[in-house]
Amino acid sequence: MKTISFEDVLEMDERDPLAPLRDQFSLPEGVIYLDGNSLGAIPRDTPRHLAQVVEDEWGRDLIRSWNSHDWIGMPQRIGAKIAGLVGAGPDEVIACDSTSVNLFKLLQGAIALQSSRGTILTENAGFPTDRYMAQSVADLCGSKTVKAVERDAIIDMIDANTAVLLLTHVDYRSGHKLDMARVNAAAKEKGALVVWDLSHSAGAVELDLAGSGSDLAVGGGYKYLNGGPGAPAFLYVRREMQDRLANPLPGWLGHAKPFAFSQEYEAASGIDRFLCGTPPVLAMAALESGLAQFEGVDLAALFAKGQALCELYVGLMAKLVDRHGFTLASPSDGTNRGSHVSYAHPQAFAICQALISRGVIGDFRTPDLLRMGFTPLYTRYRDVWDAVRILEEVMDRELWSDERFSQKQRVT
Ligand SMILES: *Cc1c(COP(=O)(O)O)cnc(C)c1O
Repeated sequence: MKTISFEDVLEMDERDPLAPLRDQFSLPEGVIYLDGNSLGAIPRDTPRHLAQVVEDEWGRDLIRSWNSHDWIGMPQRIGAKIAGLVGAGPDEVIACDSTSVNLFKLLQGAIALQSSRGTILTENAGFPTDRYMAQSVADLCGSKTVKAVERDAIIDMIDANTAVLLLTHVDYRSGHKLDMARVNAAAKEKGALVVWDLSHSAGAVELDLAGSGSDLAVGGGYKYLNGGPGAPAFLYVRREMQDRLANPLPGWLGHAKPFAFSQEYEAASGIDRFLCGTPPVLAMAALESGLAQFEGVDLAALFAKGQALCELYVGLMAKLVDRHGFTLASPSDGTNRGSHVSYAHPQAFAICQALISRGVIGDFRTPDLLRMGFTPLYTRYRDVWDAVRILEEVMDRELWSDERFSQKQRVT
């Protein structure tokens, strides 16, 4: 491969038709932010939008806002916007609760449809919350077990006893991306349902839930969707399944007629039945503002840029692999990867802290991964260059070995 120069990288930014999108975000001076896959950056518009919701809607219009500002319609309205990013119909996605809670709802709903089958099949090194929820659903059912296997072996392990597969589309550590259509087809052939976790996919990679034959999916609002810390999550249920799937947390807002205040639960038809309680309006408003950043954006070009940023990073990292013992812990072929890249290194934690102290924010994932997320909405090619240049300095001068970079805080 031809050596990439700083001039080449500047030219990539100059030629990038998506470059102006960065101005829609406020990013602090002197920071190269490569952690938008964990907490998206704040859109410039969000503080103003939140102030307006607080002052005008809550402050002035008070409870009337449920109707006059359609607070009550937020889960559906925001869900429809997310649907546009994940290849689903507007009535197939709803914004609510957290990813963890939505996982529980869909897993439990799915398992109830598969009563004659005994296992929930999942990955043995996926995101822990997924595994915990699967175990809880199995325990609550009494007769089910969780079978956790290597991610690579998933398709081969589906059998006639598999009730539900629970899989993360893009792995949170390696960034490895599964072929959704292929997994769905294999599951369908054996009569199993699939619940997809799109936490590291939605807003980052091309998704076609409908076209790939997906039944059920969940994902979060605070990562690539830029909805703010702890933003509401979403869930997707294929239209044809919605009225067959029961919500195991049947709250009043999932009722067919919430304001009839009936003592009998009657599930709403369609996606609405997957709501539990009152939507967190302020958090929803921030999420809506995050989603507005995608409006009018050529999604194919956006996702291609995410890939190109990753590709550039891997290319520039080659010399550090040779000189400083980094090992690529992500697929080398971009078509099997999401929008983040991880390298393994025995000193990954301290290296990550040293980078942060020099303004390059990525993250560490246990046991030894340095993970960098390349959010195509606001990351420039020159950010990738600068991050690698600073990392090189951290390594060449062993800046990571300073004792203060080894201290772990509550959140890593
Ligand atoms: C971030 C993430 C979650 C987080 O779930 P929360 O309920 O929002 O805390 C779940 N699954 C995966 C794969 C994730 O990456």
